[in-house]
Amino acid sequence: MPDAQTADETRQGLEVRDLSFRYGSKVALDAISFEVAPGRFCALLGPNGAGKSTLVSLLTHLLVAPQVDIRIAGHDLRQHPRRALADLGVVFQQPTLDLSLTVRQNMAYFAALHGLPRSQTQARIDAALDRLGMRERAGEKVRALNGGHRRRMELARALLHEPKVLLLDEPTVGLDAAARQSITDHVHDLADQGLCVLWATHLTDEVRDADQLLVLHHGQILAAGQTGDLRGDKPLSNWFLSQTEVPA
Ligand code: ADP
Repeated sequence: MPDAQTADETRQGLEVRDLSFRYGSKVALDAISFEVAPGRFCALLGPNGAGKSTLVSLLTHLLVAPQVDIRIAGHDLRQHPRRALADLGVVFQQPTLDLSLTVRQNMAYFAALHGLPRSQTQARIDAALDRLGMRERAGEKVRALNGGHRRRMELARALLHEPKVLLLDEPTVGLDAAARQSITDHVHDLADQGLCVLWATHLTDEVRDADQLLVLHHGQILAAGQTGDLRGDKPLSNWFLSQTEVPA
């Protein structure tokens, strides 16, 4: 049993209980449960078709299921979706930036959508860009940025409303090795600073031994724990393959 302090801390993070979802007769998620505490980087690792995007859609309320038990920073997503989503930052797999606007204009547009007070907008934008080392790019059109900087900007934008939980769906898709490393490092730093992070990926080199790990396959969690403990003395890629090659 977790002690009172641990349980309380988890309530500020992410909790998923007994979550199932089907597309018609196709089971995409089969009664999955997990918790991610504040300050933890949790990798949701699964091959294509595992159910990662379905989970992300349920967490962001794009998909709604009748009996969803999800808590974001302590708010029940079904009963209080606005409060829950106000504490959630999201970086989707597909970029969602307006290329013809500057970095600052994109951020300001998002701030307005989130209902941030105008008096706070510029300071929040500066702080979010500073966190990602992007302040000097604020006046550039997004079209002029390379893929890595665009992704960093999306990450800065996801932090603008100061969420407690950050959700990323395969955020390094399409990036070169250096940009992938940089984004992965940045998000680990954010977790070290106290953010609760859920990072969906199929790439084992984005996961560190100290990270919390959930292995998702055919809609089920096959393994959960600290990455270093789970992989033992095998490279993570070999251990992951040995888990997911088992026929479901
Ligand atoms: P991942 O993101 O890990 O690749 P998905 O969540 O996209 O996995 O898919 C989980 C399962 O649900 C897969 O078997 C996929 O084929 C199926 N699936 C996903 N979206 C749909 C849909 N709109 N209609 C029917 N089946 C779907």
